[in-house]
Amino acid sequence: MPVNRSSVIAAVLLLASLQASAAEVTGFRVWADPAKTRAVLDLDSKTTYKLFTLDNPSRVVVDLSRSSVAMPLTFDEDHAGVITRVRHGQPDENILRVVFDLSGSVNLKSFLLSPTAQYGHRLVIDLLSKSKQQKPSMVKRMADVNEPNRDIVIAIDAGHGGEDPGAVGKNKTREKDVVLRIARELKKVIDSEPGMRAVMTRDGDYYVPLRGRYEKARKQRADLFISIHADAFSKRSVRGSSVFVLSARGASSEFARLLADSENASDLVGGVTLNDKDDMLASVLLDLSQSATREASSKVAADILSSLKRTGKTHKNHVGSASFIVLKSPDVPSVLVETAFISNPREEKRLTEKEFQQRMARAISRGVRNYFYASPPPGTWIAANRNGGRYVVSRGDTLGDIASRYRVSLRSLRRANKIRGDVIHVGRELIIPAS
Ligand SMILES: [Zn+2]
Repeated sequence: MPVNRSSVIAAVLLLASLQASAAEVTGFRVWADPAKTRAVLDLDSKTTYKLFTLDNPSRVVVDLSRSSVAMPLTFDEDHAGVITRVRHGQPDENILRVVFDLSGSVNLKSFLLSPTAQYGHRLVIDLLSKSKQQKPSMVKRMADVNEPNRDIVIAIDAGHGGEDPGAVGKNKTREKDVVLRIARELKKVIDSEPGMRAVMTRDGDYYVPLRGRYEKARKQRADLFISIHADAFSKRSVRGSSVFVLSARGASSEFARLLADSENASDLVGGVTLNDKDDMLASVLLDLSQSATREASSKVAADILSSLKRTGKTHKNHVGSASFIVLKSPDVPSVLVETAFISNPREEKRLTEKEFQQRMARAISRGVRNYFYASPPPGTWIAANRNGGRYVVSRGDTLGDIASRYRVSLRSLRRANKIRGDVIHVGRELIIPAS
């Protein structure tokens, strides 16, 4: 009898779905960036939940149906943003209640994520601070392009972060950690350069969606966007650094395509952008007729690569190109540097060493400097000071660097400054002969 059979099937399905909804919380993490705090509950299966806020004191309450907790909900208090305490209980046998005590009132956003390569089911809760004084620390002073002798602004983008560890080495070194350290070193070097200033798209262990990264650079009116990464490849012997620009049409090689896939995939892993409906911008970005931007990107990439070549081993002899989303800014020249292969055990070790991180930072900044001294944007301090002017020696400078930066011969630079050898002291003012 067909009617009876289908009702039996319906009852079985209902039972199955009830059983499937019994979930266990198997992990708990908190990330905080300047704008929001993100709490993530790992679940061993899908479940349903309710979420609400309470005031005086501010709290967020999460009720998970038919769920239990498998471990203590501990977190790193230094990186917990607005969350001050987390506790849980069982108001009735079908509900697991998790309560977040907060330091202020918040707006909520939450969603469930399906399993990916790295994680299982997750409930993500974003706590968006309501208080006005909690401004993103990155938004400092806007670069005013009309300001005479303005600084050149370099946006430094440390890849991955938060839920997205990036590539992971054999000894568990995470790309997101080492690239942040290199990015911070690079910021230091650039900030110490006359006429240059750096801003970071992230300065902590949190995730920033890929398009959000270059959006930050655009808001800061950056003259250049540099994304810092560490490579991974199935063959552990592969090593060396590489520099990429956005390709005209997708990837220029199979290798670059694979790489682009793994870098772009991070948006699926770590940054779910439910409110990211900026289709207008997306269509602008697809327009690859931004030839001036692309030409500038290629030039600065070549300068960075040649500087890296003088520093250590490079993976390829030329600048690569691939369709990295993070490079798709229509109006900010953008490059991506794969500093080393984290999949190569020797390079993995090096990536964790401060000395290597600083060496990378210096090499990248030297390339950037060479580019901007050769083609400075009008109205910048560097445009006003690079020709036939004076230059104060800063740390890490060599006579050869300075000569090539100003496009003068080493001989004429030596003669103008009465220098015989190669020793120059930090702080010395050099006369730059007209080329
Ligand atoms: Zn990466």
